[in-house]
Amino acid sequence: MTAQIIDGKALSRQLREGFKTRVAALLEQGLTPGLAVILIGDNPASRVYVGNKVKACEECGVRSFHIALPDHTPQAELLATIARLNADPAVHGILIQLPLPPHIDGPSVLEAISVHKDVDGFHLYNVGGLVVGNTIFPPCTPYGVQLLLDTTGTEVAGKNVVVVGASNIVGKPMALMLLQREATVTICHARTRDLAQHTILADILIVAAGRPGLIVPQMVKHGAIVIDVGINRLPDGKIVGDVDFAGVREKASWITPVPGGVGPMTVTMLIENTLRSAERALRLRHADDYQEWEAPILKGA
Ligand code: NAD
Repeated sequence: MTAQIIDGKALSRQLREGFKTRVAALLEQGLTPGLAVILIGDNPASRVYVGNKVKACEECGVRSFHIALPDHTPQAELLATIARLNADPAVHGILIQLPLPPHIDGPSVLEAISVHKDVDGFHLYNVGGLVVGNTIFPPCTPYGVQLLLDTTGTEVAGKNVVVVGASNIVGKPMALMLLQREATVTICHARTRDLAQHTILADILIVAAGRPGLIVPQMVKHGAIVIDVGINRLPDGKIVGDVDFAGVREKASWITPVPGGVGPMTVTMLIENTLRSAERALRLRHADDYQEWEAPILKGA
């Protein structure tokens, strides 16, 4: 069996085309959707990611506010910047590019973002929403994976799903989303003993470990769907995932390539969440400030 390719680039293009209509509808009602992206320091990979996000905004008609702060920015100054963006009605989404410098306390910074503008879905409120199956903004990477899975036409309910990787931004929210869709979910991580005994049972195998070559064909069930979230740069500069693509492709029914699979979807889902936020702001535009429209949103409006 040679797996069919799940084409993240094509799905992204299609979704972004649809965004144009939604942006036009917002503009017609006098609202320009806006996303603020905060970058602290000059990590080259982070600069590339931020550049991609800003470019995607431009392509879809979303206004971007790129805030570049020096590496040594005090936490208080960062919190003040977030407070200003929370109160700015032109901003519908706020994203802080991770990783943060070591002197910044990541959790308190993420909690400072208004839950209404938390388009990355990392605020505790949104994480809690995920646990009970009612989040405002699903985190972008697992959200994108879910849509990629849907393109295969596979019913997730009842399937054995194995998620390799248990981070707060990919593995855990991914597992929760698929549990919500009634899959039987196993989460594996670096301390899991005998990874293969779990992965071999997966109807759907999602890998987000950041370890090139971690998943080889012997670990994959015949006909499984394999989603490779990993992005690893090899010493020769080549970008690969966590899955031995050529080998596993001969066993799986569907597989995502790296690059061109999950990566483009992550940025696309960020725009989706920003548009969703702008559309909610429009519904609540008569509220005088964000404090006032907090209450209805927290009740799930
Ligand atoms: P992380 O380092 O925060 O977490 C990695 C997880 O994998 C941990 O739970 C760890 O226990 C587990 N792990 C590590 N080695 C393992 C092993 N040998 N066996 C089993 N589990 C193992 O990483 P992250 O932020 O979740 O990202 C994971 C990968 O996904 C990275 O390659 C990252 O670049 C990529 N990523 C891609 C996108 C995208 O848009 N495609 C988005 C986010 C992250």
